[in-house]
Amino acid sequence: MGNDGGSIPDRRDLVRTKAKAEQADKANQTRAKWFFCALSKRPLQDPIVSCALGKLYNKDSILEYLLDKAAYGDGERICGHIRSLKDVKTLKLTPNPSMPPSVSLDLTSRSPFVCPLNLKEMNGVQPFVYISTCGCVFSQAGLKTVVSASSTAKEKNQSSSESEPSPEPELEICPQCATKFSLKEDVVMLNPSPEEEARMREKMELQRSKEPKKSKKRKNVSSSDEPEAPAKKKALPTMHSSIAAASRAALAMEEAKRKATMSDAVKSLYGDGKSSRNETFMTRGTFTRYA
Ligand SMILES: [Zn+2]
Repeated sequence: MGNDGGSIPDRRDLVRTKAKAEQADKANQTRAKWFFCALSKRPLQDPIVSCALGKLYNKDSILEYLLDKAAYGDGERICGHIRSLKDVKTLKLTPNPSMPPSVSLDLTSRSPFVCPLNLKEMNGVQPFVYISTCGCVFSQAGLKTVVSASSTAKEKNQSSSESEPSPEPELEICPQCATKFSLKEDVVMLNPSPEEEARMREKMELQRSKEPKKSKKRKNVSSSDEPEAPAKKKALPTMHSSIAAASRAALAMEEAKRKATMSDAVKSLYGDGKSSRNETFMTRGTFTRYA
């Protein structure tokens, strides 16, 4: 220890350089994890995906890796658990409204993304999660606040009609896109701690060990085993179909307007003009000339 007469302390014992270096290293690692693709180490850029272990990647890097597993030297170590695009989810991230888009990531410690619920930046200070059914990304605290508020409301509803338990008691609704998800199963921690990552890996392996059976089941039992999956997606298609109907109507109006203002020359090209048959020797019989 020094200073007890038994040994002479030198600079290493008195100056805390190592701790500082470790701190700087940790900050760099945090930046690397949250701002850069875990595989290619390039700045994260839309579309961004995440895996069952909550790592962040650029989707194009993952595609490159899946096409050629040797594309990145340590690809197998980083994402050997990704077997196909089905093992990753494209994330819906909220751009940071207070960050100018032109700022280079290398020069700033500001995150380009925030939690849409509490506007906290996604920079590694706050834990962030994504929902594996829809890919929306929230800060853990923001999601907890919203979900606990909605579930207490639900409990009140349930206590008023206790004879009729809801069919999916555990499912919550995504506060951003209204997709249903299970708070227990579908919330994935982004860039988890090593201990948390070990737990997530266990969960992933457990789920995968069930997979081959699942595909067999799907063939045999189609009606009783599946109600959960369609239910999760129900919210979106209904929204989409109404949007689709609206846009179809808008398109039809556009088309009518376009036809009304179409010039005669253009009309003749489309075949409803009367003077459409002005062939010359150049165009006449083009298709049969060599027959
Ligand atoms: Zn969502």
